[in-house]
Amino acid sequence: MNFKLLTQKLAKGAFDYGKRHNIEFTPEFAAIKLNEEVGEFNQALLIHQRQCRESKYIDSKISRKKLGYELADIIGMAIANAKIHGIDIEKAIDEKWIHREIAKSWEIEVSPKS
Ligand SMILES: [Mg+2]
Repeated sequence: MNFKLLTQKLAKGAFDYGKRHNIEFTPEFAAIKLNEEVGEFNQALLIHQRQCRESKYIDSKISRKKLGYELADIIGMAIANAKIHGIDIEKAIDEKWIHREIAKSWEIEVSPKS
Protein backbone atom coordinates (compact mmCIF):
# COMPACT_ATOMS: atom_id res chain seq x y z
CA MET A 1 0.00 0.00 0.00
CA ASN A 2 1.43 3.38 -0.94
CA PHE A 3 1.70 6.21 1.55
CA LYS A 4 -1.10 8.36 0.06
CA LEU A 5 -3.59 5.48 0.14
CA LEU A 6 -2.47 4.54 3.66
CA THR A 7 -3.00 8.09 4.95
CA GLN A 8 -6.40 8.29 3.24
CA LYS A 9 -7.50 5.04 4.88
CA LEU A 10 -6.18 6.09 8.30
CA ALA A 11 -7.87 9.50 8.15
CA LYS A 12 -11.14 7.92 7.00
CA GLY A 13 -10.93 5.44 9.88
CA ALA A 14 -10.46 8.26 12.37
CA PHE A 15 -13.31 10.37 10.94
CA ASP A 16 -15.58 7.30 10.79
CA TYR A 17 -14.87 6.80 14.51
CA GLY A 18 -16.27 10.29 15.13
CA LYS A 19 -19.36 9.60 13.04
CA ARG A 20 -19.92 6.19 14.63
CA HIS A 21 -19.89 7.72 18.11
CA ASN A 22 -21.68 10.94 17.12
CA ILE A 23 -18.67 13.10 17.98
CA GLU A 24 -17.79 16.14 15.89
CA PHE A 25 -14.22 15.64 14.69
CA THR A 26 -12.92 19.12 15.49
CA PRO A 27 -9.24 20.12 15.59
CA GLU A 28 -9.45 20.16 19.40
CA PHE A 29 -10.96 16.66 19.51
CA ALA A 30 -8.30 15.38 17.10
CA ALA A 31 -5.51 16.85 19.25
CA ILE A 32 -6.93 15.41 22.46
CA LYS A 33 -7.39 11.98 20.84
CA LEU A 34 -3.75 12.08 19.71
CA ASN A 35 -2.72 12.77 23.30
CA GLU A 36 -4.98 9.98 24.52
CA GLU A 37 -3.23 7.56 22.18
CA VAL A 38 0.18 8.73 23.41
CA GLY A 39 -1.04 7.99 26.94
CA GLU A 40 -2.20 4.52 25.87
CA PHE A 41 1.21 3.91 24.30
CA ASN A 42 2.89 4.97 27.56
CA GLN A 43 0.69 2.57 29.50
CA ALA A 44 1.45 -0.25 27.06
CA LEU A 45 5.15 0.52 27.35
CA LEU A 46 5.05 0.38 31.15
CA ILE A 47 3.30 -2.98 30.95
CA HIS A 48 5.70 -4.28 28.29
CA GLN A 49 8.68 -3.29 30.41
CA ARG A 50 7.02 -4.63 33.55
CA GLN A 51 7.18 -1.27 35.25
CA CYS A 52 3.67 -1.74 36.52
CA ARG A 53 1.69 -3.70 39.06
CA GLU A 54 2.41 -7.42 38.81
CA SER A 55 -1.29 -8.06 38.18
CA LYS A 56 -0.91 -6.28 34.81
CA TYR A 57 1.94 -8.49 33.57
CA ILE A 58 1.19 -10.23 30.29
CA ASP A 59 3.23 -12.35 27.91
CA SER A 60 5.93 -10.21 26.26
CA LYS A 61 4.81 -11.21 22.76
CA ILE A 62 1.33 -9.89 23.52
CA SER A 63 2.62 -6.73 25.22
CA ARG A 64 4.86 -5.99 22.20
CA LYS A 65 1.87 -6.46 19.90
CA LYS A 66 -0.17 -4.03 22.03
CA LEU A 67 2.73 -1.58 21.91
CA GLY A 68 2.65 -1.77 18.12
CA TYR A 69 -1.11 -1.23 18.07
CA GLU A 70 -0.78 1.88 20.22
CA LEU A 71 1.95 3.22 17.93
CA ALA A 72 -0.43 2.55 15.03
CA ASP A 73 -3.10 4.55 16.88
CA ILE A 74 -0.66 7.44 17.34
CA ILE A 75 0.21 7.43 13.65
CA GLY A 76 -3.47 7.21 12.69
CA MET A 77 -4.39 10.15 14.92
CA ALA A 78 -1.36 12.16 13.78
CA ILE A 79 -2.52 11.67 10.20
CA ALA A 80 -6.09 12.62 11.14
CA ASN A 81 -4.69 15.79 12.73
CA ALA A 82 -2.77 16.55 9.54
CA LYS A 83 -5.87 15.97 7.42
CA ILE A 84 -8.08 18.21 9.55
CA HIS A 85 -5.57 21.06 9.09
CA GLY A 86 -5.14 20.42 5.37
CA ILE A 87 -1.51 19.40 5.82
CA ASP A 88 0.18 17.18 3.22
CA ILE A 89 1.87 14.93 5.80
CA GLU A 90 3.94 13.07 3.21
CA LYS A 91 5.43 16.39 2.08
CA ALA A 92 5.95 17.51 5.68
CA ILE A 93 7.76 14.27 6.54
CA ASP A 94 9.88 14.56 3.42
CA GLU A 95 10.83 18.16 4.21
CA LYS A 96 11.33 17.73 7.97
CA TRP A 97 12.78 14.21 8.29
CA ILE A 98 14.29 13.37 4.94
CA HIS A 99 15.65 16.64 3.62
CA ARG A 100 15.74 18.60 6.90
CA GLU A 101 14.62 21.74 5.03
CA ILE A 102 12.61 23.11 7.94
CA ALA A 103 15.35 22.46 10.49
CA LYS A 104 17.84 24.27 8.30
CA SER A 105 15.54 27.24 7.79
CA TRP A 106 14.82 27.43 11.55
CA GLU A 107 18.52 27.33 12.36
CA ILE A 108 19.00 30.40 10.18
CA GLU A 109 16.03 32.19 11.82
CA VAL A 110 16.94 31.40 15.44
CA SER A 111 20.70 31.85 15.22
CA PRO A 112 21.83 34.56 17.62
CA LYS A 113 23.08 37.71 15.93
CA SER A 114 26.84 38.05 16.11
MG1 LIG B 1 -5.16 3.16 21.45
